[in-house]
Amino acid sequence: MKIENIVAYEVLDSRANPTVKVKVELENGVSGEAIVPSGASTGKKEALELRDGGSDFFGKRVQNAVNNVNEKLLPLLKGECVYNQRKIDSKMIELDGTENLSKIGANATLGVSMAVARAAANSKNIPLYRYLGGLSAFNMPRPMLNVINGGAHANNNIDFQEYMIIPTNFSSFKEGLFASAVVYHELKNMLKKDGFSTALGDEGGFAPDLEDNEAPIKLLLGAIKNAGFEGRFALGLDVASSEFYENGVYTLKNGIKTSADMIKIYAELCEKYPIISIEDGLAEDDFDGWVELTKALGGKTQLVGDDLFVTNEKILRMGIEKGMANAILIKPNQIGTISQTLNTIHLAHTNGYKCVMSHRSGESEDSFIADFSTLTSQIKTGAPARGERTAKYNRLFEIELGI
Ligand code: PGA
Ligand code: ZN
Repeated sequence: MKIENIVAYEVLDSRANPTVKVKVELENGVSGEAIVPSGASTGKKEALELRDGGSDFFGKRVQNAVNNVNEKLLPLLKGECVYNQRKIDSKMIELDGTENLSKIGANATLGVSMAVARAAANSKNIPLYRYLGGLSAFNMPRPMLNVINGGAHANNNIDFQEYMIIPTNFSSFKEGLFASAVVYHELKNMLKKDGFSTALGDEGGFAPDLEDNEAPIKLLLGAIKNAGFEGRFALGLDVASSEFYENGVYTLKNGIKTSADMIKIYAELCEKYPIISIEDGLAEDDFDGWVELTKALGGKTQLVGDDLFVTNEKILRMGIEKGMANAILIKPNQIGTISQTLNTIHLAHTNGYKCVMSHRSGESEDSFIADFSTLTSQIKTGAPARGERTAKYNRLFEIELGI
């Protein structure tokens, strides 16, 4: 089944920034579409998101990436069989010729890569998760819902970027997610009652100006209890610590900390509270710290590398060899194609690392990662509010029903 046409154009993401939308049309008239997401607290080694620069729209237009799809990738891929995902992705990587897709742009290649997979699934008339995972696509991921935002995603006093609730003791994905939504409402009521802002951060979580990094944890446990779900939720953190790491130290609102101090802080938090997952607890360049963190907490806590690994197979391999982390965040736009993302997931799983499929803080109505998450054990896609987040959860409800 041959690719007949590829059309890219600019659309807006959930933060009112331009992003790339791609439509792949096949010779049988079937098509597939995809919209590329965009991060804010990006890792240094991520594939390049090509933005036009200049003065128009604060330099954020993506017309060059769009042109690259229409003028370079269409001639490259027209006539190619849509089921040859790996060949298609390899051809784009080869044409670009750089390590980080900096010529064509990872937003151009990923848009095409996702739309190709969707067109292929549509053409076979099977759900996307079934196309991506085949017989292995059987897993409903456990959701990690970011309901209190700090760090780079909010304007408040909290250093850590995300405080997540994780339903652990429910009969189905849907029951766990509905309970999470009840906790979210309870949290909102508690914030309102105490006079805090209930304004939402980029991922749909609340961003109240709480006094310290521990206050959100207490608040979440209170909301879980008030909602009647005590003992049925665990908590997760995304510290996104690369954001406040400079010259070998971590600058928190209450002082400067070393890697060893940070490890001690996490050990105490995990001792005191039901925290089962910590993402980017240390910075992307703090390799020695990561080894120590993993030695100290890796036996009982999930330690997720996001900025650390940037969904990159080579960097993950290095991390596995050195003993850094025991899980990886999977963000397709950090690496630029679906095939490379699959390679990274495979490498993680064969080495006993858990995979957490993830949205970006800048998202769209595209629910691709919901289908993709059935190849992993967990998904992180924000609060159960705001359409670009619920698009993923709502798609997972369908997947649970086999639709
Ligand atoms: P980002 O944040 O999409 O802004 O990078 C998400 C995360 O850090 O997990
Ligand atoms: Zn992160």
